[in-house]
Amino acid sequence: MKITRIACHRVELPLVEGSYKWSGGKAVSVFDSTVVVVDTDAGVQGVGEVCPLGPFYLPAYAAGVRAGIRELGPHLIGEDPTQLLKLNRRMDAALQGHPYVKSGIDMACWDILGQVAGLPVCVLLGGRYGDDVVLYRAISQADPDAMAANVAGYRAEGYTRFQLKVGGDPDTDIARIRQVAAVLKPGDRLVADANTGWTQHEAQRVVRAVRDLDVYIEQPCRTYEECLAVRRNTDHPFVLDENIDSLDMLLRAVSDRAMDVVNLKISKLGGLTKTKQARDLCAHLGIGMTLEDSWGGDVVTAAISHLAHSTPPEFRFTSTDFNSYVTVSHADGAPKRQNGRMAASTAPGLGVRPKWDVLGEPLLVVGN
Ligand code: MG
Repeated sequence: MKITRIACHRVELPLVEGSYKWSGGKAVSVFDSTVVVVDTDAGVQGVGEVCPLGPFYLPAYAAGVRAGIRELGPHLIGEDPTQLLKLNRRMDAALQGHPYVKSGIDMACWDILGQVAGLPVCVLLGGRYGDDVVLYRAISQADPDAMAANVAGYRAEGYTRFQLKVGGDPDTDIARIRQVAAVLKPGDRLVADANTGWTQHEAQRVVRAVRDLDVYIEQPCRTYEECLAVRRNTDHPFVLDENIDSLDMLLRAVSDRAMDVVNLKISKLGGLTKTKQARDLCAHLGIGMTLEDSWGGDVVTAAISHLAHSTPPEFRFTSTDFNSYVTVSHADGAPKRQNGRMAASTAPGLGVRPKWDVLGEPLLVVGN
């Protein structure tokens, strides 16, 4: 089987809440997502999606997905989409770095492999564990009262895990964590994600001030070294995210015992193939995982569901149903949250069917 065509569709994904705010005053109101459609000479078609969290979260930006595929795509025409490791080596040989550019192509090729095999992607990724996976809700940065009210509202919808966007003024962040913790019930889990927003001394103040609370601390500072220093001075369970962008960084962090949970985002690592490598390593080493992506709509949510559903439950910390955060649906068959949980499709491949009327004409076509 050979890849004959790669097309990129640009889809705007407005937020249900109007905007999403996190550390340092960063905010997005409409996400710019790229749906990647890969065609083959066998008539099998796969779909992937890449949606950076704006241009200021990771070294990734929306138009860069398209620019990168314009550069990389011609090298992949004629390649076999079902030989995923070989295809990834080809992508890495043709374009150094830029993992997020490769993520949508890799995702679409897993969709193709699943359709050819007649199996859902989660089975091909290792197997389906349990009936569904537990989700967290990201709580956009706001006043402490508003964040506590927001958590109570999402709790009523069935969520039991909450990731607070902190990383602002440390005193306000301490109030945010305290006020939210006060509305939680036994069994709920709380994560304070600073998204690199604190300096090291600010992070030290916050972790000390909330020492009595059951809260995970995620990516407090910008550099790995600062985070490691904070980690060594706190007994809160610790999550690393932005700094863990490759297998090399994962191995270094494991060696330093720098985290208890790692956040694996599909596009941060370069697709499902490389995220599976990181996931399997973490499961072997006993590291918990948040399995998700930077952002996305129905296709990314489907890919997350397969990745999470194929992860041993004891290492599955949380995942995200991004398609419930946005007002536009661009594919049928994607998971729909029920009581704070979601399940991967049992159909072959990712189990999603693009809504062509929503996708419109492609912005970019490579091949024919
Ligand atoms: Mg994070």
